Amino acid sequence: MSFLIECIDCGHTTGYNPSEFNCPRCRSQWRRAVYDYEKLAITLPDLLAKRPFDLWRYIELLPIHKPVPSLRMGEGGTPLIQAINLGMMLGCPNIFIKDERQGPSASFKDRQAAVTIAALKEAGITEMVAASTGNVAISYSAFAARAGIKLWAFVTSLVPAVKMREIALYGSQVIKVTGSYDQVKKIAAEFAEQRGLYHDMGARTITSVDGMKTIAYEIAEQLTDQLGQPEDGSRWRTPTWYVQAISGGLGPIGISKGFHEMQQMGFTSHIPAIAAIQADGCAPMVHAWKQNQEEASAVINPKTHIETLATGTPGRAYPLLRKEFKENKGLFESVTDEEAFRAMHVLAKMEGISAEPASAAAFAGLFKLIRAGIIKHNDTVVVNCTGHTMPAEPLVLGSGWARNVVLPQESETSNSAVTPKEGEGLLAALSRVAPDRFPRVAIVDDTADARRLIRRILQSQGEYTIFEATNGREALELVKREHPDLLILDLMMPEMDGFAVLDALKNDPNTANIPVIVSTAKELTKDEKNLLQGQIQALMQKGDFMSDEFLEEVKSLIR
Ligand SMILES: *Cc1c(COP(=O)(O)O)cnc(C)c1O
Ligand SMILES: [Zn+2]
Repeated sequence: MSFLIECIDCGHTTGYNPSEFNCPRCRSQWRRAVYDYEKLAITLPDLLAKRPFDLWRYIELLPIHKPVPSLRMGEGGTPLIQAINLGMMLGCPNIFIKDERQGPSASFKDRQAAVTIAALKEAGITEMVAASTGNVAISYSAFAARAGIKLWAFVTSLVPAVKMREIALYGSQVIKVTGSYDQVKKIAAEFAEQRGLYHDMGARTITSVDGMKTIAYEIAEQLTDQLGQPEDGSRWRTPTWYVQAISGGLGPIGISKGFHEMQQMGFTSHIPAIAAIQADGCAPMVHAWKQNQEEASAVINPKTHIETLATGTPGRAYPLLRKEFKENKGLFESVTDEEAFRAMHVLAKMEGISAEPASAAAFAGLFKLIRAGIIKHNDTVVVNCTGHTMPAEPLVLGSGWARNVVLPQESETSNSAVTPKEGEGLLAALSRVAPDRFPRVAIVDDTADARRLIRRILQSQGEYTIFEATNGREALELVKREHPDLLILDLMMPEMDGFAVLDALKNDPNTANIPVIVSTAKELTKDEKNLLQGQIQALMQKGDFMSDEFLEEVKSLIR
């Protein structure tokens, strides 16, 4: 475990002391750990083969001499989950979710905290200061608690109260500051300096950068497991894109370092493009990028509900990322809060993954970039999914998301063995809120995946009685038997295709008025489009609609 600390400005190298923030030669605070890559190119594969899948399997590439096993809480080694339903909706089958929610404190900050706290422990440091938009302080608090390190956590008053209480629960001292996150950072730094305490330096923290880079290594190993070794014979596969919501930019700085190291060791041949997503109301890097500026101007008053993303002054992180993105086709993009909340809802309903709004911003960015044709349909994409869901649910769900059931009061003497009288009890109460005639929707498609997707979209919001048919003939029988209020029809099916089904329906006065949404993967010719004109109510192109857009069509056609 040998490494040196190298200044990115003057190249000076030294040993490592976490309390030394500046390069001794040029005073730069931008330094990084470098390792014996030539040796690791040979030794690492065998070492990795024997180790469990967690962050510490890359110990030779972390700035720690002797990790203390008792500090570990299962950091790293998070799953890489293929987003099947999103992939179908967006026509982009290789979307993968790096599920950082499954870290010890449910965000990818656990990687920076695990490595940094290990280094502080090694250096005998027992007190530290961190400014945070929430998640950094939560992660540090958890690991600091284990390591016997006191944490002073400076947060803005905008951080949701549940997050603040979680920080306090771990025994950290919460300092709630009314002001912007950038002001909070300044105050925290002053406080640390006055008291001579170690303080977190954001994207300049050597240990944090290398903690984050383990995401890149894991992605390469996992993609290779799931998709096989790349065609060019490299050991590991890398994605075309890595997508992450960014605030200070530590994540992408660490992740790009990881990908560069892998390439330097000859394990991979390609550096992924990084798409860094900011919130519209606080997007200094996006503005600078779109105007091709070398420096980002500060956003003094961030206007976003997504406090996790409210870094208004990116400082040096921006030019560093800009250089990386120019070299490897990365980009900055922003999304509105509304787009993020919508993506949060889609992700939860369609993939079963509930992310916090900051993460949802990354997904909203993904949707935007695919639709703009920037992320291509055959690209492999990994999206960082991280964080706590709770703070935004009310905003996302709107009203009417729960049903109230008031049970008749049980009397003192009743016991559960006694059958409730008719019209009493839970079932009776529930059936009062469940009207027996939901809109009836028939899904006609020969592929099971497509039927499942539409069924999922329908059942995720509102109530429908759903029927399925797998070919045209079945569809006609189903329509006669069940009288659906809406037909969702595929065009290309064996035996009897969708056009023939439409003909038959329209020729029968009993079925001629059933509204039809055609959902097809087929690129329609002009003749085919003319044929459908007046016959159907909506045309949805498979691979080019989101669940909520589809639902809106459905709702507009059923009264
Ligand atoms: C910290 C954080 C970000 C921003 O990450 P940076 O790489 O530090 O810019 C985005 N999303 C979530 C959930 C976070 O906790
Ligand atoms: Zn220097």
